[in-house]
Amino acid sequence: MNAAEQDMQQRLDTLNQMIDTALDTALRNRSGLTLVAVSKRQPLAVIHQAYQLGIRDFGESQIQEGVPKVKACPDDITWHFIGHLQKNKVRKAVLHFHYLHSIDSLSLLHRVDAIATEERVCPKIFLQVNYALDSDKYGLHPEAVETVLEAGLAMKHVACIGLMGIPPANADDERIQAYFQGMVELRDQLKARFPDWPGNLSLGMSGDFPLAIQAGSHYIRVGSKIFGDRI
Ligand SMILES: *Cc1c(COP(=O)(O)O)cnc(C)c1O
Repeated sequence: MNAAEQDMQQRLDTLNQMIDTALDTALRNRSGLTLVAVSKRQPLAVIHQAYQLGIRDFGESQIQEGVPKVKACPDDITWHFIGHLQKNKVRKAVLHFHYLHSIDSLSLLHRVDAIATEERVCPKIFLQVNYALDSDKYGLHPEAVETVLEAGLAMKHVACIGLMGIPPANADDERIQAYFQGMVELRDQLKARFPDWPGNLSLGMSGDFPLAIQAGSHYIRVGSKIFGDRI
C-alpha cells in the first residue's frame, strides 16, 4: 500500500468503527445498511483506490462528471446518482446509474419511467423530500409525497424503494435528530398506506451518519469522511 492508500484505509477504519458503534446503539446489524462512497469532485484514481479497499457502491451528483467515471471503472460497481437530475439528462442517468436518490417531482418520475422503458432498465428510486421546507433545497413537499409514491408504485420501469432527505445546513444534533425522526414518521405513514412498499431511507452524510443510522437509515452517503476534502 502506498501512503495515499494507507490514509484512505485509516479513514475507512475510523468510519467503519463509527458505523459499528451507531449500529450497536440501535441494535441493528450491518446487513441492513449500505455505505455509498460519494466520489463527486474526486479524481478517478481515488475511486480506484477505494475500489481496491473493497468499496463497491459509489455516489456522484452530476451526470457530466459521473458518466465518464462510470465508463472508466470496473463494471461490478453499483452507482448511485445523488444530485439534482435535469430532465434532459434522464437517459444518461438511467443508462449509467443503478440508483437515483433524488427524484423530486412527479413529472421527473414519469420521464424516468418512460426512458427506462425504452432502455429496458429498471432503476431503483428514492423520492427526495424537502422535509424542512428549506428554500435552498430540492425535494417534494412532504404532503405531496403520497400522491407521487402512489403513481410511482404503478409504474413498471422504476422501483420506488424509499425516501431521501438532507437536513438543513448548520443544524445542531437535536434539530438533525428531529429531522430524521420526521422522515421516519412520514415513511411509517406511507408504509401503512402502501404495505408492499420497501420504505427504505437514504439519510446521513459525513457529519450526521451516526444519527441517521440510529434513526434507521438504510443508505448513508458519505464523501469527505472517506476521501478527505474535495477539489
Ligand atoms: C456531497 C453529498 C453527500 C456527501 O457529503 P459529505 O459531507 O462529503 O459526506 C451526500 N449526499 C448528497 C446529496 C451530496 O450532495
